[in-house]
Amino acid sequence: MKKISYKIYPNQKTTCLTFSYDDGETNDIRLSALLKKYGFKGTFNLNSSNLGKPKYITEEDVKNLVKDGFEIAVHSVTHPFLETLAIEHITAEVLEDKRALERITGTIITGMAYPFGTYDERVKEVLKACGIKYARTVKYNGFNFPADFLEWHVTCHHNDLDKVSIDNLRYSNILYVWGHSYEFRTEEDWQKFENNLKRVHDNGSFWCATNGEIYEYITAQRNLIFNADLTAVYNPSAITVYIIVDGTVVELPSGKTVSI
Ligand SMILES: [Zn+2]
Repeated sequence: MKKISYKIYPNQKTTCLTFSYDDGETNDIRLSALLKKYGFKGTFNLNSSNLGKPKYITEEDVKNLVKDGFEIAVHSVTHPFLETLAIEHITAEVLEDKRALERITGTIITGMAYPFGTYDERVKEVLKACGIKYARTVKYNGFNFPADFLEWHVTCHHNDLDKVSIDNLRYSNILYVWGHSYEFRTEEDWQKFENNLKRVHDNGSFWCATNGEIYEYITAQRNLIFNADLTAVYNPSAITVYIIVDGTVVELPSGKTVSI
């Protein structure tokens, strides 16, 4: 049988890297500039009712984040514990936030981070009905992709990034870093973070993408259709994906069947 591996991402990179930041406070602007400096990408999860208030970024800032290649995602309108609410109330918190952020960004928003990281099965059902494809928690799952993208657990908080070993990424699929930009309180905090960004950047093996881009890529890989002999594979998705067959990287264009 052929040896097929999925641990290959765009630009021949072998591990994914993404950042996820919540709540939309004004430090997001400095943070996004720092991420951009190192070619990193990520997702900002926003409460639409806070935009433009003191301490928070504005609609203009949100537009600029999108221009810079960052993704905007839902964090609910008012940041409640969603699992404590009635179904209609959960729906309003999610859908109104999605609608407001889509109006500002001109993008179709499919991602979310749970306020306080909390959820239950009812909340997940509402997300599905609202067109949310992935939702980030604050649980930890090492360097692995989630089985269920509506429970997308992370690798580490940014404060713990210096404890993460990136010397041997052989079994690491994704480095997923999360936090809040308001947690950078001193210049020393920023410097410590930047030192870690440099270390990750210098490693060179990461595909840097938004949460949504990684969701889309991994979902496309998972939806590949093989024949029984594993000698042909069809990519029904809208994007090119890659696999490694007996040690060789194989490109699988959108909508094409490829002999392997
Ligand atoms: Zn939050």
